[in-house]
Amino acid sequence: MSKTTKAVVKKQAKTKASTTKRTANKSVSTNFVYAFGKKTDGNATMRDLLGGKGANLAEMASIGLPVPPGFTISTEVCGYYYDNGKTYPASLSKSVLKAIKQIESQLGKSFGGRSNPLLVSVRSGARDSMPGMMDTILNLGLNDVTVEGLAKISGNSRFAWDCYRRFIQMYGDVVMGVQARSEEEEDPFHEILEKMKRKLKVETDSDLSTENLKALVDQYKSLIRKRTRSAFPQDVFEQLWGATSAVFSSWRNERAILYRQQYAIPAEWGTAVNIQAMVFGNAGDDSATGVAFTRDPANGEKVFYGEYLINAQGEDVVAGVRTPNAIAKLADELPQSYRDLEKVRNKLEKHFKDMQDFEFTIEGGRLFILQTRNGKRTGLAAVRIAVEMQRERLMSQETALLKIPAESIDSLLVPVFDPKALKAAPIIGKGLPAGPGAATGRIAFTAATAEAETRKGNKVVLCRNETSPDDLKGMLHSQGILTSRGGVSSHAALVARQLGKVCICGASEVVINYDKKTLTAGKVVLKEGDYISIDGSTGLIYKGMIESADSEVKRVLEGGLKANKSYTYELFQTVMSWADKHRTLNVRTNADTPAMAKQAVAFGAEGIGLCRTEHMFFDGERIDIMRQMILAADEVQRRSALKKLLPFQKKDFVGLFKAMEGRPVTIRLLDPPLHEFLPHDDVVRRQLAEKLGVPFDFVIDRIKALHEENPMLGCRGCRLGIIYPEITEMQARALFEAAAQVSKGKKAIKIKAEIMIPLVGFRAELADQLAIVHRVAAEVMKKHKVKIDYLVGTMIEVPRAAITADEIAHEADFFSFGTNDLTQTTLGLSRDDMGLFYDQYQSKEIYNQNPFASLDQTGVGKLVELAVERGRQTKPNIKLGICGEHAGDPMSIDFCHRTGLNYVSCSPPRVPIARLAAAQARLRNK
Ligand code: PEP
Ligand code: MG
Repeated sequence: MSKTTKAVVKKQAKTKASTTKRTANKSVSTNFVYAFGKKTDGNATMRDLLGGKGANLAEMASIGLPVPPGFTISTEVCGYYYDNGKTYPASLSKSVLKAIKQIESQLGKSFGGRSNPLLVSVRSGARDSMPGMMDTILNLGLNDVTVEGLAKISGNSRFAWDCYRRFIQMYGDVVMGVQARSEEEEDPFHEILEKMKRKLKVETDSDLSTENLKALVDQYKSLIRKRTRSAFPQDVFEQLWGATSAVFSSWRNERAILYRQQYAIPAEWGTAVNIQAMVFGNAGDDSATGVAFTRDPANGEKVFYGEYLINAQGEDVVAGVRTPNAIAKLADELPQSYRDLEKVRNKLEKHFKDMQDFEFTIEGGRLFILQTRNGKRTGLAAVRIAVEMQRERLMSQETALLKIPAESIDSLLVPVFDPKALKAAPIIGKGLPAGPGAATGRIAFTAATAEAETRKGNKVVLCRNETSPDDLKGMLHSQGILTSRGGVSSHAALVARQLGKVCICGASEVVINYDKKTLTAGKVVLKEGDYISIDGSTGLIYKGMIESADSEVKRVLEGGLKANKSYTYELFQTVMSWADKHRTLNVRTNADTPAMAKQAVAFGAEGIGLCRTEHMFFDGERIDIMRQMILAADEVQRRSALKKLLPFQKKDFVGLFKAMEGRPVTIRLLDPPLHEFLPHDDVVRRQLAEKLGVPFDFVIDRIKALHEENPMLGCRGCRLGIIYPEITEMQARALFEAAAQVSKGKKAIKIKAEIMIPLVGFRAELADQLAIVHRVAAEVMKKHKVKIDYLVGTMIEVPRAAITADEIAHEADFFSFGTNDLTQTTLGLSRDDMGLFYDQYQSKEIYNQNPFASLDQTGVGKLVELAVERGRQTKPNIKLGICGEHAGDPMSIDFCHRTGLNYVSCSPPRVPIARLAAAQARLRNK
């Protein structure tokens, strides 16, 4: 990945509610070309057809902003181009010719003309901007004849020849493919230029004379001939079609594909091509070119922000050859142009009603606007701009809510890296971004090391091939977790997100050697104790320490900072209160401990939608009793272990009920394959045998007996409770005993318990478990003389359950979609093994999104819809929720809203995102 790609491809999830199918040749319209200028055919609402750039150019032209005239070839042509072997609709060339004629007559110039030649730029422009991802050609229309004409009419032959050499360089690279042949090789055009500067002993390009530039043009042309065996084209229409095809082709270049994956932009959208008369920022010292934002895109502050270069063309600003000046300095250098620019800034914001990122050129003191788009911004800036623009009455509350990418709320909550330090840090690898935020610390390869190091006051990042319940303590002690295997719904990811830990999973290029205590990423080898930094929002792994800090919002919510001392907190609260007003979906949380539950309530959770009871057994002495229970040779031994577990479980449930203060609490019965609780290495197994007072061989034999080839599809879920009913009985008893305890006395809490049976596929499975739950409930209520409000329902997480939801609904008070397993079982795809092929699948655009992160709406989603429909057929008021990881993903939340679920349940740190996404879903689908 190139540096620019890395810089631009930042994690900032977007929701795309709709996609359009690629227009096949049969369905395209006959109008492919839309002019802007004196005569304007398009407007800002036509993004789908004209792309964002084309639509906004048309809009700017029609509101009287100084836009050089041009035309847009529509996105439909892009679809046609790919569907028809890179050819164009028959009528296109005629329409292009007509549009060129219009520009010629408006400007009094002629394309390919000898005396006053028209030059054009050819640029891409997709529906959503994809900055820097596709190709651009400037100064098109120059050849050996027109360059002389330009020299004459401008009275500046140096300028004309500089444009010509720039054009050949760009065209040679982008259209004719004359590029560096390896990472080590310099760009060949650049090399020729530098060689000439060295020979002439000059520092900058502007020191080159007309004669030097003419020589450069000759050298560039011979380079092209040598490399491509073709001459640089002199025919301006050949140039035009060459550039147009290059831009359409760049829709499918590597960078563009990667960008689309990051931002969930469908491949079917295609790009438009904008052809526009050139204006010249390099026409002298009263000329300039620059890029400006109407507000600060980094922090959202309402200040004019941008940079420019005097006597330069656009690519000089981007290429970083010369250092641009801050926009404020233009007020001194070209005061009238600065005033004009300020006016444009205000007009753009008032008209487009969003922060704009625009390109301008000043030619001989005259200002032109070449492009405007809604500016990309950080999460914090997105929130601040939306809130402040609503306060300035530039947008309504509804629009403001829709303007904030739901994920960006996260950037107000997670620890952040210091941006300057991040820029300088060396990237050593990449994995799946599984728990957002920034973490830096010493590498710890085991949970024990992580714990020991934190006790010494060191920060650690736990680096494992994968995590298991044994690692929980280590995870708790770590700043972040990095695994080389596993997907975004793997154990590490689930637990990390619930704990609000930063996490990267499935970093398959990272090799962890526990014996040598090394972590290898490419050529970099790090040892235990070395510093590493991970960004769980982008998946990028860095060598060394990068400073980070807790967010202000978190400090306020945890009482470490006064609310009125934090503007960020005020912004957060404003957005959350708006969101709550508009959403209809309830937002619950997946929490297993009172601490998690309290954090979720602080973030606005309205209940617990999933308590994974197995997580309650990971810690301390419980894991040993749990292991004793699993290894039990018979029911008597098992019951004896369960008896010891009951008080722990009851205490935890009491804590949860108290933390949730009367909100609904969904407790799921034991679900995972039992081997997950058993130690994997012999040292720990021997220790366990000693602790339990059983022979080592007994432990080994039981582990062997419990071995399953496919544990994810084996003895787990309700199957456990069916073959060992005493487990269900203990869990139900602990729950009702806890409920009875907290629903009595002075500080009595109203209980709303929801008991959930996992991995049900048959009505009879649910009925079996239901009978135990109801029996125990009746016993406990009778014993304590209390009435406990409870429901019993099931997870829908295997296809059979979805298909037979009408039957299952007879037994269930509620369904909760376990979309992690439902995805795993529907796609026949292990939720823990995505790392090996995921990159390939993404680059081939087989998966637009990781199906474990964002619901596969067209596949798994159909099963959800079916289950909703069939469940409601049997029980119209059945309560419906989702507790798979998708419940925290904005696009999936939109789906849940449309499908008519009652609630989503996500990990605590994602609750604010879910609240916002739920409101957006309602507003979008009103
Ligand atoms: C699920 O499968 O979606 C679910 C929530 O259960 P778990 O992730 O615990 O298997
Ligand atoms: Mg599950």
